[in-house]
Amino acid sequence: MSAYSLFSLIRNAMNYHQDWQSAWRSPDPKSHYDVVIVGGGGHGLATAYYLAKECGVSNVAVIEKGWLGGGNTGRNTTIVRSNYLLDESAGIYEHAMQLWESLSQELNYNVMFSQRGLLHLAHSVHDMQEIGRRGNAIYLNGIDSEFLTPAQVKEMVPFINLNCRYPVMGGLLQRRGGTARHDAVAWGYARAADELGVDIIQNCEVQGFDIENNTVKALRTSRGRITAGKVGCVVAGNSSVLADMAGFRLPLESYPLQALVSEPVKPVLDCVIMSNGIHVYVSQSDKGELVVGAGSDPYTSYSQRGSFDQIEHVVGPLLELFPIFSRLRMLRQWGGIVDVTVDRSPILSKTPVNNMYFNCGWGTGGFKCTPGSGHLFAHSIASGEMHPKAAPFSIDRFNTGALIDEGAAAAVAH
Ligand SMILES: Cc1cc2nc3c(=O)[nH]c(=O)nc-3n(C[C@H](O)[C@H](O)[C@H](O)COP(=O)(O)OP(=O)(O)OC[C@H]3O[C@@H](n4cnc5c(N)ncnc54)[C@H](O)[C@@H]3O)c2cc1C
Repeated sequence: MSAYSLFSLIRNAMNYHQDWQSAWRSPDPKSHYDVVIVGGGGHGLATAYYLAKECGVSNVAVIEKGWLGGGNTGRNTTIVRSNYLLDESAGIYEHAMQLWESLSQELNYNVMFSQRGLLHLAHSVHDMQEIGRRGNAIYLNGIDSEFLTPAQVKEMVPFINLNCRYPVMGGLLQRRGGTARHDAVAWGYARAADELGVDIIQNCEVQGFDIENNTVKALRTSRGRITAGKVGCVVAGNSSVLADMAGFRLPLESYPLQALVSEPVKPVLDCVIMSNGIHVYVSQSDKGELVVGAGSDPYTSYSQRGSFDQIEHVVGPLLELFPIFSRLRMLRQWGGIVDVTVDRSPILSKTPVNNMYFNCGWGTGGFKCTPGSGHLFAHSIASGEMHPKAAPFSIDRFNTGALIDEGAAAAVAH
C-alpha cells in the first residue's frame, strides 16, 4: 500500500484521483485466525493494529456486523482528555493521551488531533470542591491541569455568560485536551492494520460462539463458522448481547446517548467547554459546526435515534451559557448505544470463558481512550495476562468491591 505523501497526492491528481487504491482490502473470512476481534469500532481496530504491529500476531480478523466506525466511534462528539480522578484512570487515559500525541505520524493518517484545551466549568460549591480534588489528584499524577477564576474563564471565552442561573464560579482547564476526527481514527487504524496483514471483514455479524470445555473454539457468523485461538469482544453497546451468547452476564446497562450539531459558522469557539453543573458540552468542529451533547437517555434501550426531548434538554443549558448561539439552527441529531458500568469505568478483562476477552463499559467516554485501550488490550490478549495498566479494570472488581468510581469525572456524558 502506498504511503500518503505530497508526492502521491500530486501523482493521483494527474489522474483526477481515479486511481487511489482502496484504503483496506475486503477479503472473505478465512476458516481460522489466531485472534478474532469482534467489533470494527476504533477500539477493535486499534487492538488489531497493535496486535500485528507490536505483538507479532498478524493472523487476525476484525469482524464487524455493519460498517467500520458505524457504532459509537462514528457517533461520538470526539472529546479527548485524560483528567479523571483516580490513579488507575490516570494510568490508562494518560497512556492514551500520549499515544494520541503522535498518532497521525504513527498511522501516516491525519486523525486531526487538536489539543485546543478543554475547560470544565464549576457552578456551585460542590463543583468547586470536585474540580479542586480532581485537579490536585491529576497534578500529582503528572497530568496537566489548571484552575481558572471566572475572570480567566471570561478571558478565554469572551462571549460566555458567567451569570447564568447557576453562575460560573471557576474552571478546570486541561490544555492538552481537545478533539480528534472520529472517522479518521477508525479509518487510520483500519488502513494501517490491513497493511500489516489483518483481515477486516465488514457486514459480518457474530451470532454465536462454539465453546468446548469452557474454552472458546469458534465464532458462528452470518458469513460462516470461523475458528479462533483467542477472541476479543469490543462491541460497546452490544456487549451484554455478546456475553449472553457466550453464557455469562456483564455488569452493564446499555443506554442511548444523543448529540447534535448546528449549521456551520465561522470559527468562534477555540476550546472545548463542559459543564457538569448545568449539563451540556460544546466544541466547534473543523467544518464550523457546533458539536453539542449532554446526558444519556434516562432509560435503557438499543435505539440509535435522536428524540425531541433531548433537543430541549441540551439546547436550554447551551443558551444559558452562550446566548450568542440562540439564532443558530441545529442541523443534525443522532444517538449511539453506550454501555455503562456502575462505577463509570471501563472493563478490560478476561472472562469466565477461557481465551475470550472483553473490552467494554466505556459508556459515554471511550473515544478519548481509543489508542490506549487498543494498545493495552492487544498486549493483554497476546500475552494471556492483563497488562498492569489494564488489570484494575477487570470484571473481578464487581465481586471484590475494588471499584474505580469515576462518577464525578465522567459526569456530563462525553
Ligand atoms: C453521542 C455520543 C457522544 C460521545 N461522545 C464522546 C466524547 O466526546 N468523547 C469520548 O471519549 N467518548 C464519547 N462517546 C463514547 C465513545 O463513542 C465510545 O466509548 C467509543 O467510541 C467506543 O468505541 P468502540 O470501538 O468500543 O465501540 P463502537 O465504535 O460502538 O464499535 C463497536 C462495533 O461492534 C459492532 N458489533 C456489535 N455487535 C456485533 C456483532 N454481533 N457482530 C459483529 N460486530 C458487532 C458494532 O456494529 C460496532 O461497529 C460518545 C458516544 C456517543 C454515542
